[in-house]
Amino acid sequence: MIQAEVGRSERERIRQRNKDRARRLRNAGRWAGGPIPFGYRPVDNPEGAGKILEIVPEEAQAIRKAAEEILAGDTLGKVARRMNHAGVKPRRAAMWSRVTLSRVLTGDHIVGRITVNGRLARDAEGNILAPFAPILTVGQLTALRATLGKGKPPVRTGRAPAHLLSGLLTCHSCDRTLSASSRKTGRFYRCYTRGSGGICERPVVVSASAIEPYVEKRYLAAVGHMPMYKERTVVSGLEELAAVEEEIKATLADMATSATADTFKRLQDLQARQAELSARDTDKRTELIPTGQTMAEHWKEAMVEDRRTLLAEAIDELIVYPGRQGQRIFTDDRLVLIWAENEDEDLDEDQEAALDATLAPVVAEPAQEIPEDLAPFLEAARRLQADGVDVASLLAPE
Ligand SMILES: [Zn+2]
Repeated sequence: MIQAEVGRSERERIRQRNKDRARRLRNAGRWAGGPIPFGYRPVDNPEGAGKILEIVPEEAQAIRKAAEEILAGDTLGKVARRMNHAGVKPRRAAMWSRVTLSRVLTGDHIVGRITVNGRLARDAEGNILAPFAPILTVGQLTALRATLGKGKPPVRTGRAPAHLLSGLLTCHSCDRTLSASSRKTGRFYRCYTRGSGGICERPVVVSASAIEPYVEKRYLAAVGHMPMYKERTVVSGLEELAAVEEEIKATLADMATSATADTFKRLQDLQARQAELSARDTDKRTELIPTGQTMAEHWKEAMVEDRRTLLAEAIDELIVYPGRQGQRIFTDDRLVLIWAENEDEDLDEDQEAALDATLAPVVAEPAQEIPEDLAPFLEAARRLQADGVDVASLLAPE
């Protein structure tokens, strides 16, 4: 009994010693062991004993890309799927999930900070230590935490569309969206209007393996050569607010142990500054930046879900007509593709005038082509005219 008690207190002492050692190492900017945060790897400390954390460039790039996508409005689920598609592996799981990704993007280590027992490590003066190279800015971290809600479980978002043309094809006959279906004989898009009790005169069904490559070919022929841009949300003005909030937390912690007039005054000042900064507009703007890739190169690497989004943005309508040869066989004439209107929102007056001038002759030009159904009449009129009949007077109203 006594032996067990001694053993326990000895273990307790060793544990405490290890904890202290970890704290000292962390304060000195050295890596104290434990799970290695994604984006970093431990390397020998160039300035002495022990290890420090160094950025893994490919992982840091994946984190920055994911952060930009989240701040631009993509869901955690979508960004996680994109990382899995790109073959980026998380630390201790086979695949990225919303939870693992959220943890990486909102953790303190991502800005080079370390936590000891859940609290930010600080130096003797109480300043937050950030001994390792940051992957994101404090502003980005603050914005990500606001977007993802630190501590809250991520919201479950809808399942990823599994088919390239899910929701994009419509039935010529009833104007409803075709649904994807998988059978032993392959994948199909079909009109289910009748199946759900609606009226469709001639429901269509088309083989996915034929219509998908066709739409892809048309899309890439139209935009494949164009440069690919991506949206990047730039956050600034949040750094100071984040710093002030950290300081308020620290001051409150100080007050819990030793409340003095000084700490109280400090807290008041900080809270006033916090209110001032919160009221100010933070600068969060989106800019388009070239990725250096063409649309075709981007398409090649993109997952089905993102390809589908690209198509949805570029195309207004994809109307499927019934097949002549076989119900399900796709031929080019079965599809009417209507491109989305390209809105030239950013044209100034001069540019618009120039555009009008370019279009004017085209618009003014009378149609040279004779509508098919009028051709027989014109042919008859020409024959009458050749026989000496005044066709114009025959047609004139009385
Ligand atoms: Zn239909």
